[in-house]
Amino acid sequence: MRLFFALQPDDAVRGALAGTAAALQRDCGGRPPDAENLHLTLAFLGDVPQSRLPALFPLAAAAAETEPFAMALDRIGWWPRQRLVWAGARTVPLPLRSMSGILAGGLRAAGFRTEKRRFLPHVTLLRDARRAPPRVACSLPPWRVSGIVLLCSERGPRCPRYHGLREWPLPRRL
Ligand code: ATP
Ligand code: MG
Repeated sequence: MRLFFALQPDDAVRGALAGTAAALQRDCGGRPPDAENLHLTLAFLGDVPQSRLPALFPLAAAAAETEPFAMALDRIGWWPRQRLVWAGARTVPLPLRSMSGILAGGLRAAGFRTEKRRFLPHVTLLRDARRAPPRVACSLPPWRVSGIVLLCSERGPRCPRYHGLREWPLPRRL
């Protein structure tokens, strides 16, 4: 199973992200993900055998023990080598850093393969982008984070399908 921990936007943020991606596509080319696939990856696990699934649950539960928070997606970025256009936050909320830190530390301690790169929270808006995004202000509604999800990425006919395996709601909400 190809697994990753992620945050999923609510319908309002999802719709706004999809609209932003469609607008950016006119300038940058490339392909937006299906709206239902829009997400922010907290930790990528790669292939995990089914037998190891239960070891992930307490890590996620610990990471979800955070104060409620909202995130302002106020920045459009681009990684030319990966040809990726993304939305991110100029100021990464502390609880988001702590979530990713708890997951990364817990995964490492439990013997899972983890990312060595610095955590750069982003929502992919375009793949195979040809041109840099225009430098315009990005105004998306605040993303009130409601929980952590464990997603399984499966091959679909056109694009991957993310199948939700489990969710850990934050104990308190904004
Ligand atoms: P596709 O690979 O078909 O274009 P995708 O990247 O959305 O689609 P996956 O490759 O299954 O689907 O990745 C799921 C999530 O994990 C995505 O957010 C992706 O950016 C992230 N991811 C994938 N591989 C890695 C990796 N090696 N390190 C960190 N994050 C990764
Ligand atoms: Mg990929």
